[in-house]
Amino acid sequence: MRFGINTLDDVAVTDKTVLCRIDINQPVDRKTGTLKDTTRIEACIPTLKELTNKGAKLVLLAHQGSDIEYKNFYTTEPHAAVLSRLLGKAVGFIDDVCGPAAREAIKALKSGDILLLDNVRFVSEEQTLFETTLLLSHEEQAKTLLVRKLAPLADLYICDAFAAAHRDQPSLCGFEQLLPSAMGRLFEEEFCVISGLMEKPERPCVFVLGGAKISDAFLMMSTVLRGGIADTVLTGGLVGEVLLWADGKDIGEPARAFITKEGYGSLVENGKELLSKYRDKIVRPVDFAAKVDGARVEYQLGKIPAGALVLDIGTATATAYQNSIRGAKTVFVNGPMGVFEEAPTEQGTTMIWDALGDTAAYTVIGGGDSITATRKYGKTRDISYICTGGGALIRFLTGEELPVVKALRHGSAIKQKGNYSVDHVRVTA
Ligand code: ADP
Ligand code: MG
Repeated sequence: MRFGINTLDDVAVTDKTVLCRIDINQPVDRKTGTLKDTTRIEACIPTLKELTNKGAKLVLLAHQGSDIEYKNFYTTEPHAAVLSRLLGKAVGFIDDVCGPAAREAIKALKSGDILLLDNVRFVSEEQTLFETTLLLSHEEQAKTLLVRKLAPLADLYICDAFAAAHRDQPSLCGFEQLLPSAMGRLFEEEFCVISGLMEKPERPCVFVLGGAKISDAFLMMSTVLRGGIADTVLTGGLVGEVLLWADGKDIGEPARAFITKEGYGSLVENGKELLSKYRDKIVRPVDFAAKVDGARVEYQLGKIPAGALVLDIGTATATAYQNSIRGAKTVFVNGPMGVFEEAPTEQGTTMIWDALGDTAAYTVIGGGDSITATRKYGKTRDISYICTGGGALIRFLTGEELPVVKALRHGSAIKQKGNYSVDHVRVTA
């Protein structure tokens, strides 16, 4: 038991039917139907090995996005082949989530077998709760089709999807209302590392925050500054730009228009409040770079020409950030410093990642694009801990209890599989 949640040490899985939710959402090459990256699949292998070695009948639940993020979905079939290769044993796949075919396949499992179900987001109740305002309580999630159909077949629910722990959806929070539950090894590890970061970071503790998906960044900044966790926050990407805007500095009309278009205009007020409380701890860029005729051009803050769209931090800013990172004992990073996908605006990110590579500090990185940058610049081995969860990690650092953590605590208290009569609905397998 850790953090009030069962670990794999606390549950008996031999000959048991185990539903295991993993996060193996990876970029897909739609032309070939193969996966472009398998990092997340690799990360959950220890849990799956342990469960099958112990003789569980293992049923895997997962989601997979497609080309329009959060709007359409792809089959999990290619993942089964990758899982088979990594586990060195056949992983079955069925193109059904919780219908009769899936249920028959689950019933036919033998101890040590593994079956991957199709994308859980093909079931509408999973989807409609996604990034929308429609919320179902965990008790209500236990009454959704997915849970009603699969829970009766299972003895145990295990969640190893830390990367999805901020999602309030049936495949993540519903089963724990009915089945004895536990977290997998990856979940446990990620939870421990980031809890440690929150509780007793070695000092100085520096946060580096950038990127373009920044809605939770400001809440997180205020939590880590209020709690005295971060000694310094170095800001880049849109985070830095919003803070400068909040401080009355001119980042240029194109950058302001972009921030507004992305729906982050309201963060300017949050920025003002943060600066009024923690001005000395929040470091902002002093120079920027833009792409002009395909080449990098740098401007000092205050001298950004009208019409220039800044897309990276400048050399002076990056140099100062490097020194801060090299002098730190703990560094947490989320979000690149600029549009690192394009050569003229990648220098800020390469300089920061260089410092992350050679600092003696304990370094933690989270976020999909930050991980991509880490791989692009060959720093994977130099980073102390790469967290598979971006959104979940940030949400955790805002101090809010993650929905899946709450659900797992509930499920950890369930000792025996209950009676599946959910709200007068007689559930049959
Ligand atoms: P992560 O996935 O690591 O959390 P985000 O998704 O928040 O990172 O942001 C990554 C994206 O931010 C990258 O695609 C990058 O091009 C973009 N980006 C970084 N800085 C800027 C900027 N100043 N203006 C526009 N986009 C930016
Ligand atoms: Mg981000």
